Amino acid sequence: MEVISERFHVVADLDADTARRIATHLELTADTLESLGFYVRQPELPVSVIVFDGEEEFGAYRVGTDARAFAAYSEDRLYIAIAWNAPGDPWQALSHEWAHLTTDFKALPPWFREGLADHLSLARGDGLEPVTPTNLVNALLSKYWLPIDQLLRAGDEDAARRHEQFYPQSWLAVSWLAETEGLPVREITPYMLQGRLLASGMHELEVQLRAYASELQLRAASSRSARRA
Ligand SMILES: [Zn+2]
Repeated sequence: MEVISERFHVVADLDADTARRIATHLELTADTLESLGFYVRQPELPVSVIVFDGEEEFGAYRVGTDARAFAAYSEDRLYIAIAWNAPGDPWQALSHEWAHLTTDFKALPPWFREGLADHLSLARGDGLEPVTPTNLVNALLSKYWLPIDQLLRAGDEDAARRHEQFYPQSWLAVSWLAETEGLPVREITPYMLQGRLLASGMHELEVQLRAYASELQLRAASSRSARRA
């Protein structure tokens, strides 16, 4: 099934309705990220979105071992490829990949690149606070962490990059910086976390980040009970 929208050319191994919703979702994501100052880096290039039904069909195109989606660019085209029926939320995965295409992702350290993409994938367009993914927060609060110096140093080929807390901790760190630096998220840089590590040391930094995760969990719980009231 093929759907062409303003920015996207979706080719999906799925029903027409889902293919249309994918194009609409990506257009909304792109609008939201533009409102935060994140523009696609080569706006003149067409964007192909290739949606495979499951991980088996996606397998031959997979980049890396664990990803269910990726973003890439060539000289004449940008790509997002995704396995639709795979663990995790496919809508968030689409937004995450679009976020990569709006940042200089090959130049950024992995923790910042992935943390920023997750942070942006949860942004909402109307200036509201980003959604808190309770699954990420619960994972963070219930398990051991990757030592923060290893998180910051991890290259794409390192074992730390595949640690189960790599994505949750990266997301938390970027979200914490975005909230506490008092700057637009567009102006947050990886050096800010490095600076805080130098200022407070690894133990104290983890204490502060864990406190922020608990705070997010409380906020998410109180917004859920406010919605029920
Ligand atoms: Zn990513």
